[in-house]
Amino acid sequence: MKKICVYCGSSPGRRPEYLAATQALADELVSRNIGLVYGGAGIGIMGAMADAMVARGGHVTGIIPHVLANREVVHSGLSELRMVDSMHERKALMEDISDGFIALPGGLGTLEELFEILTWSQLGFHRKPCGVLNVAGYYDRLIEFLDHTVAEALVAPQYRQMLLQAEEPAQLLGLMESYQAPAKDHRIAKSAR
Ligand code: AMP
Repeated sequence: MKKICVYCGSSPGRRPEYLAATQALADELVSRNIGLVYGGAGIGIMGAMADAMVARGGHVTGIIPHVLANREVVHSGLSELRMVDSMHERKALMEDISDGFIALPGGLGTLEELFEILTWSQLGFHRKPCGVLNVAGYYDRLIEFLDHTVAEALVAPQYRQMLLQAEEPAQLLGLMESYQAPAKDHRIAKSAR
């Protein structure tokens, strides 16, 4: 993996652990020579993640739509900032240039991004690993709910298993490195998206 996309909150959240997790994740990414791809903002957990990478000399690509550039306060110290025309273009470019995806704690935008990348994997648009870094138990209930979706026969077990989870960055990256995407006959070519 050369680049990992991190989805995370544009707010800091109420626990210091959420911001602190960006330091531990940046340590691990930089030590493995993995660059960060993220939404380009300088605020909240997003800003902390970029700051932590920059402070360690890591490579950071920010991708932000023009329409959000003011609202989200673009980070000024990134290795590379790519301005795009829409949210859809942002998410497509994030997927295209990244080798895997991690969600840190975040709000609706983070959840939407995580579930979109999972559904793209379910459809076979990509075969890249997706994981949540479950900081301070933030994602406990989401994980519980996903198990419920399987119990209720609305999500197939092999698709539930696409979402990796760990409490520590090293453990999560280890799971991502050995990830095998589910085999599926009816997968649709990326060009059909
Ligand atoms: P949040 O987790 O809501 O703080 O948002 C984190 C990131 O997700 C920010 O970069 C937002 O621009 C982005 N975002 C917010 N809403 C959406 C949405 N509806 N679709 C995709 N991304 C979003």
